[in-house]
Amino acid sequence: MSARSYDVVIVGAGLSGLSAARHLLKKNSSLRVLLLEGKDRVGGRTMSSKLPAAQGKDVWDLGGQWVGSSQMYVMDLIRELGLETYPQYTAGKKVYHMGGPRAKVRTYTNSLPSMSLLTLLDLKHFQWQIDRMSQSLSMEDPTSAPRALEYDSMTLSSYMDKKIWTQSLRMDIELCTRSLFGMEPSQISFLYFLMYCRAAGGILHLLETTPGSAQESRIKGGTQQLSEKLADQIGRENIHLNSAVLEIQQGPEGAVVRTRLDTFSCRAVIVTCPPHLAAQIQYVPALPPARQRLTQSMPVGHMIKFIVTYRTAFWRTNGFSGEIVVQPSSDCPFCITFDATSPRGNPGLVGFISGAQANDWSYKTVEDRRDAVIQSLVKYLGPEASDFIHYAEKDWAKEEYNGGCPVNVMVPGMLTYYHPSLRRPCGRIHWAGTETATHWCGYMSGAIQSGLRAALEVLERLSPKVLSQEELQEAQASTTHTLPHRSWDLAPQKTYLPVCLTVTTVTLGVALLLANPCLYNEMIEQGSAFLQKFGFWC
Ligand SMILES: Cc1cc2nc3c(=O)[nH]c(=O)nc-3n(C[C@H](O)[C@H](O)[C@H](O)COP(=O)(O)OP(=O)(O)OC[C@H]3O[C@@H](n4cnc5c(N)ncnc54)[C@H](O)[C@@H]3O)c2cc1C
Repeated sequence: MSARSYDVVIVGAGLSGLSAARHLLKKNSSLRVLLLEGKDRVGGRTMSSKLPAAQGKDVWDLGGQWVGSSQMYVMDLIRELGLETYPQYTAGKKVYHMGGPRAKVRTYTNSLPSMSLLTLLDLKHFQWQIDRMSQSLSMEDPTSAPRALEYDSMTLSSYMDKKIWTQSLRMDIELCTRSLFGMEPSQISFLYFLMYCRAAGGILHLLETTPGSAQESRIKGGTQQLSEKLADQIGRENIHLNSAVLEIQQGPEGAVVRTRLDTFSCRAVIVTCPPHLAAQIQYVPALPPARQRLTQSMPVGHMIKFIVTYRTAFWRTNGFSGEIVVQPSSDCPFCITFDATSPRGNPGLVGFISGAQANDWSYKTVEDRRDAVIQSLVKYLGPEASDFIHYAEKDWAKEEYNGGCPVNVMVPGMLTYYHPSLRRPCGRIHWAGTETATHWCGYMSGAIQSGLRAALEVLERLSPKVLSQEELQEAQASTTHTLPHRSWDLAPQKTYLPVCLTVTTVTLGVALLLANPCLYNEMIEQGSAFLQKFGFWC
């Protein structure tokens, strides 16, 4: 079989791969670029589906959905592609039911549910600490931050054990972690959590629906349009669907990329699939050990996303916003829901079954999950919730070429030892995908940023003349990675040395005074004389 020849082969036609391809072609239209995608569609972790609705059918997102005005890469792309956004509906009462099935169901209309003074202080203290620590991180080298080693050796859960005072805040943060990562706090490196907050510009940006935050607005017609429109611009003939890459071979002349049926030769490869899937590709010669360790140890979260469509937005009429925050239990599978009424006015609710709960509920039938979801919606929003039109769900752990969502995280120790391997190219192979982003990592905006960055790296290698001086510098900076900052020999001394010195001095002092009490009087006299000399004593 003779290999067809390209300049660049891109593995994966999600937002990062498609953005990389478009940027390469925008900068140099003579480049021959090929995208190989394992699925039968473009869009990766974004997927818009037509569902039965009040007025016929309408589109809802079963993958990535919200965008925020601080997510400049995705906002720019939305504008460039002529798409529009609309704000997330937030008016009305939000439901808050934490503390187990027997706890009181509360409602609130402000940004926070009513809480005790102690919990409020605890929350503000936690938020202040996370923001202060994350702001001091460098996204290029998070290991250079003070106490980075200590933070990377603990999970978010162990940090919470040390710093959170109230059980109620602990439960809230556990819930937020599930909704953000599809994981439990005990599964995530605390340093990684700080880095994630840093990439979003603060912890509240990740959690809120306010301007600039992650849940601010949605794209009319669904997010998969971004990928479909990019694919049209790149040319569908340059995108091979159902073409999972099995092997990448590198040699002095170039690289050879193999799928089950085809072989392609090229000068550079951009791999955009999430780390756990990049690890399943065979690399010849083998990748450097640090890169292998990294991709083998970045687990992906687990989320089941559901949409329920209705004839009327009865919750709005009843004064509810549609937002329910609930501690999952054997009765209620989900942890959070929002209003998902379409811009055409078709009512709907969206919700997430996340983390350990997703794992437990994924063994049940779709009917069992649907019935449990509807029962809980009835409990929190009223009996009208049982009169739904359609229930749709997607378990991303069961999606081929995903195996989970929304993002791969780092477990303790990964950042400390292997962080530079996340983006550092391996020969002709460059790495993209939202996990490699420094801006809104884990989000669509991060995916686009990573695609643009990888394209720049490849252009610097293949056609540097098309790049401006600034772009060249950016590309060079991106391919040059310093070794991780490892100061673990000093870290324990920094913490314990002053304490040891103080304890030793005090002990010796007390022992001396006990042995010779006259010394005490002498010291008092000398001290008084010293103070008198400088006018402090009368
Ligand atoms: C349920 C859910 C909710 C989310 N909510 C939001 C949100 O509200 N806002 C937001 O901004 N983001 C959200 N996200 C995250 C967002 O969708 C992703 O960050 C983004 O789409 C990732 O794009 P990507 O190109 O980096 O990766 P992907 O979209 O995963 O693209 C990688 C592509 O590689 C392909 N692939 C994998 N292995 C191979 C192989 N061997 N050969 C060829 N192809 C391969 C995959 O099929 C895939 O198409 C959500 C995601 C999910 C799933």
